[in-house]
Amino acid sequence: MSAHPHRELYQQVILEHNKNPRNYGPFPEATHTSEGYNPLCGDHLKIFLKIGEDNIIDRVSFEGDGCAISRASASMMTTAIQGKTVPETLALFEEFQNLVTGKLDPDRQPHHLGKLTIFSGIWQFPSRVKCAILSWHALKGALERQASVSTE
Ligand code: ZN
Repeated sequence: MSAHPHRELYQQVILEHNKNPRNYGPFPEATHTSEGYNPLCGDHLKIFLKIGEDNIIDRVSFEGDGCAISRASASMMTTAIQGKTVPETLALFEEFQNLVTGKLDPDRQPHHLGKLTIFSGIWQFPSRVKCAILSWHALKGALERQASVSTE
């Protein structure tokens, strides 16, 4: 198994999303919010969700300060979960968590991660795993109506 099969793509995608984050900034109709903090790196993100009566994530956005990985991951998360149901979103959280901790091999196991598989090599850098997963913890915090969450 090659150590860095997607390294160039990974770097390009991270830089591009960091520079032009998707779904950035709060919106007034948000029904759920939560703040996520990663003390190891200093990343601080807030997630905003609007969940419709059919349990579908109608809209999601984020804002905050942090490293390129945390911001790019948050940006990609918002595009990945928009239009999904809450159960689908929680299942995707689990798949992403397994991906970034090296428990899911996206080339060999079934998943719904799509473009999020660019994070597949990050388990080799444990301090970066928390950057990548911060927005997902904040998302889960918002769904569980926790005002804030921490990766520690
Ligand atoms: Zn970070």
